[in-house]
Amino acid sequence: MLGETEGEGFGHMMGGLETGRLQVAARALGVGRAALEDALAYAQERESFGRPIWQHQSIGNYLADMATSLTAARQLTLHAAREAEAGRRVDMEAGMAKLFASETAMQITLNAVRIHGGYGYSTEFDVERYYRDAPLMIVGEGTNEIQRNVIASQLVKRGGLDA
Ligand SMILES: Cc1cc2nc3c(=O)[nH]c(=O)nc-3n(C[C@H](O)[C@H](O)[C@H](O)COP(=O)(O)OP(=O)(O)OC[C@H]3O[C@@H](n4cnc5c(N)ncnc54)[C@H](O)[C@@H]3O)c2cc1C
Repeated sequence: MLGETEGEGFGHMMGGLETGRLQVAARALGVGRAALEDALAYAQERESFGRPIWQHQSIGNYLADMATSLTAARQLTLHAAREAEAGRRVDMEAGMAKLFASETAMQITLNAVRIHGGYGYSTEFDVERYYRDAPLMIVGEGTNEIQRNVIASQLVKRGGLDA
C-alpha cells in the first residue's frame, strides 16, 4: 500500500511527480544559465569586423532573448515551488514550470552554440554539452506533450487560469 490510507496512493504518487517536475525545471534553469554565462563571456571576448561580436545586433538580440526567457522561466519555477512548499497541489504549476524551463533551456543552449560559431560544435567548449543535455529535460519526468495534456485538463478542471 502507498501511504497510510487506502485509496489515497494515487494522490501520493502524483504529488511525487510534481516534485520531480519542479526538480527538472530547476535543472533546466541551471543548464540555461550556464549556457547564457558562457555565451555572454564569449561574445565579449571574440571579435569580428573590428568589434566584440555582442555589438553586432543579431548577437546582442540573442543574448537579450536568452536572459529574458531565462528570467521568466525562473519566476515560473519559483512560483510553483513556493506553492508546493505551502502544501498546495501544483499539477498545473509544476507542469508549466517544467514545460517552459526545459523549452527555454533548449532554445538558450542552441543560441549559445550559434554565438560560439564553429566552436559551439566542438567539445573544446562546454556549450555543445549543454545543447546535448537540454533534451533530457524536455523528455524526462513526463514529456512536454504530457505536460501540455496536464495543463489543459487542469485548466478545464479549475475553470480557467485564475478561477
Ligand atoms: C536520459 C534519460 C534519462 C531518463 N531517466 C529516467 C528516470 O530516471 N526515471 C524514469 O522513470 N524515467 C526516465 N527516463 C524515461 C523518460 O521518462 C521517458 O523516456 C519519457 O517519459 C517518455 O516515455 P517513452 O520514452 O516511453 O516515450 P513514448 O511514451 O513512447 O512517447 C513517444 C512520443 O509520443 C508522445 N506521447 C505519448 N503519449 C502521449 C499522449 N498521451 N499525449 C501526447 N503525446 C504523447 C510523447 O510525448 C513523445 O513525444 C529517462 C529518459 C532519458 C532519455
